Amino acid sequence: MKPVLLVTGASRGIGRAVAELAAARGWAVALNYARDERAAAALVERLRAAGAETAAFRADVADDAAVVRLFATVDAHFGAGPDGRSRLRGLVNNAGVVDVAARVDEMDAARLQRMFAVNVFGSFACAREAVRRLSTRHGGAGGAIVNVSSAAARLGSPGQYVDYAAAKAAIDTFTLGLAREVAAEGVRVNAVRPGIIETDIHASGGQPDRARELAPQLPMQRAGTADEVARSIVWLLSDEASYVTGAVLDVAGGR
Ligand code: NAP
Repeated sequence: MKPVLLVTGASRGIGRAVAELAAARGWAVALNYARDERAAAALVERLRAAGAETAAFRADVADDAAVVRLFATVDAHFGAGPDGRSRLRGLVNNAGVVDVAARVDEMDAARLQRMFAVNVFGSFACAREAVRRLSTRHGGAGGAIVNVSSAAARLGSPGQYVDYAAAKAAIDTFTLGLAREVAAEGVRVNAVRPGIIETDIHASGGQPDRARELAPQLPMQRAGTADEVARSIVWLLSDEASYVTGAVLDVAGGR
């Protein structure tokens, strides 16, 4: 029976690339998305055609009650393992949002609430539900969590989105603290910090050409791909990374 991996924000971009690679590497994959049901359904269809065990689950990770329901629904869908325990063995906290470029003195409360609700509280809530299933303290069989931070956490993103950068810096510290909290309970917790990656997130921040425009200024003189980030994430989830916990891995082409 395949172990189950839950990937939040899997309808496109980095989350979709993680789902595709993880399915190819033998995970059963639970795909979470917020709005784009059609994209999630298309991914499910494609992965199933390639022989994967997968399904899509709509939930806003910023809604704590919805996160609790999401994990319960994933458990119910995939069923228990032969030992009667949840089959969940992995979580990728990937769902994330940016906003349009603004200075801090232009940011209203609604923007700040959403930025931290999705990027920080959503990751906490999902990790909490995962630890309740994975940790030996709760009768679980162990597993791994990978949080998706951003190079913005160490750059600060002045004049762009300091709110996003600060939220991702919280994810770095969350990763370190949770990793140490559950290290003796069979659960590894790591983060990746992507640099400029070619996905739709830039369009959602009002800068659709951001990756292409910034490419010449980057050390490797190109943006990264979602697939390149996915390879690091799937490695951190795997037994190949069995002694890696509390790590924050830059996948940023030297940025
Ligand atoms: P993306 O293309 O914009 O995709 C975001 C995904 O998150 C979508 O599947 C979206 O689902 C989902 N999502 C958004 N809000 C959600 C919510 N409240 N609940 C559940 N799902 C939600 O983004 P991406 O570039 O792949 O980014 C993925 C992660 O990498 C994010 O955490 C981002 O901060 C981080 N990152 C990206 C870059 C980059 O350059 N691309 C760099 C550093 C870090 P719907 O489409 O259904 O709304």
